Amino acid sequence: MSDDLIRGHATLGDFDLTILTDGPYLLDGGAMFGVVPKTLWEKRTPANERNQIVLGTNTIVVRTGKHTVVIETGIGNKLPEKLRGIFDARQLLPQSFQAAGIKPEEVDVVINTHLHFDHCGWNTTRKEDGSIVPTFPNARYFVHRGEVEHGHLQLERDAVSYISENYDPLIENGQMTLIEPPSGSGMEIVPGVSVELYPGHTAQMMAVMLDSGGRRACYISDLIPTSAHLDVTWLMGYDLDPLTCIEQRKRFLGRAIPEQWLVLFTHDHHHPMGYVELGAKGKPQLKG
Ligand SMILES: [Zn+2]
Repeated sequence: MSDDLIRGHATLGDFDLTILTDGPYLLDGGAMFGVVPKTLWEKRTPANERNQIVLGTNTIVVRTGKHTVVIETGIGNKLPEKLRGIFDARQLLPQSFQAAGIKPEEVDVVINTHLHFDHCGWNTTRKEDGSIVPTFPNARYFVHRGEVEHGHLQLERDAVSYISENYDPLIENGQMTLIEPPSGSGMEIVPGVSVELYPGHTAQMMAVMLDSGGRRACYISDLIPTSAHLDVTWLMGYDLDPLTCIEQRKRFLGRAIPEQWLVLFTHDHHHPMGYVELGAKGKPQLKG
């Protein structure tokens, strides 16, 4: 069981990385691959009889030696019952922490790349009496101010993706810091851990950069959700601005390949991390 709950482990310079999971979940394959025909994407990612594919909910715990940093917090336990059924959401992140021997109280920093519910669901926990409490009582949480504002607008296109109980209680109790990193360069959160705008999926989505010992890992979040999405045109139906996504994927790959960044994939249950290379036809692919 703990093999399923701990998706990977790596060292990066002085940093120790553990990949935890809130469990696999199911999304419509067509939505995950946008305009790409199923005849192409199903060769990489098989679909079930309901056309759903298996995705991961990967949380990274980074131990820098000074800080314990959590990147993303899965789907959580606050989804309406109907949606939980559609996605087959498992709510495993607390067990995953337990399996790895990491206590929520140890966590100093939580970073959300954006506020779609499958990225910040365990920021807070709904208790049996219905009350909402911070899952990481001693942590400072960092999110982009624009994501909070966008979520509060509850727009027709993506209102369902934003569940305010994942962030409003933390803003109200002072644990959440709203940040606005400058475009094109990083903003340091703690030494060796920074965020950088990679817009397109949402207008203010941030990647998380980990730097130690001259090496870099990057949690590129929903700009490239799985290793099957490395082709710059294999976008998701969910992406708000596809043309910006293409430009930003090129920008990312233009550094991640030559500099051999360790790429951490947010929704790849089976390949949560890896290095990217150019394949025989010049297309980016995971190194074997
Ligand atoms: Zn998203």
